[in-house]
Amino acid sequence: MTDLWDERKKALENQYFYKEEQEKIEKLRQETREQLIRSHCRNRCPKCGDEIQPMTFRDVPLDKCPGCGGIWLGPKDLKTLAEKDHRTWFDKWFGEEKE
Ligand SMILES: [Zn+2]
Repeated sequence: MTDLWDERKKALENQYFYKEEQEKIEKLRQETREQLIRSHCRNRCPKCGDEIQPMTFRDVPLDKCPGCGGIWLGPKDLKTLAEKDHRTWFDKWFGEEKE
């Protein structure tokens, strides 16, 4: 009886540690995947995957994608640009792109 009980106890312990290790491994796997995604996507265009290039437009730093022409603005950059020339900045911006 004692041996059976000990075996059962050991089996339960093993099961506990196995489950705990599996959870740790899964967590580590997810963290690694997340880091990999971040390192691969850093400074990359979310649309076409090309490397985005920093540029300055009217003293406002922007990021532009040479692949698809996408432009990224910081949180306050659009407001800054709009305030600088609120009537024509949009036309000029896209007018310059066509030339
Ligand atoms: Zn792009």
